[in-house]
Amino acid sequence: MKTKKKTIALIAHDHKKEEIVVWALKNKEILKDFNLCGTGHTANLISRATGLTVKAYLSGPLGGDQQIGAHIAEKEIDMVIFFWDPLEAQPHDPDVKALLRIAVVYDIPIATNKATADLIIKNNK
Ligand code: PGA
Repeated sequence: MKTKKKTIALIAHDHKKEEIVVWALKNKEILKDFNLCGTGHTANLISRATGLTVKAYLSGPLGGDQQIGAHIAEKEIDMVIFFWDPLEAQPHDPDVKALLRIAVVYDIPIATNKATADLIIKNNK
């Protein structure tokens, strides 16, 4: 029996975008077995670099993190790869906190660095 593809949300702050694109390219063969979505700019960059379909929500500062949070609450997102920037304040910090919180509330895997992202996609097909 075919199991339903899981959905991963991909998000990276500006100084982390190159890192998430390199990570996505490295893991393209694994990622193609998932439904992918992400905040606007991150989704488009990953889609362009890998050729994979990545559904783009709004850009993070314009509400994209909140959209992804809502889909987590609706149980439509199974895990999150979120390379947030620990060295720069974000205008949408309340949204970032809300996203981290809702991922904990619904107990879904959320990777906030490369090492954890590698672990969760290899263990979550
Ligand atoms: P972006 O949003 O992918 O649209 O840049 C990311 C963020 O800053 O939350």
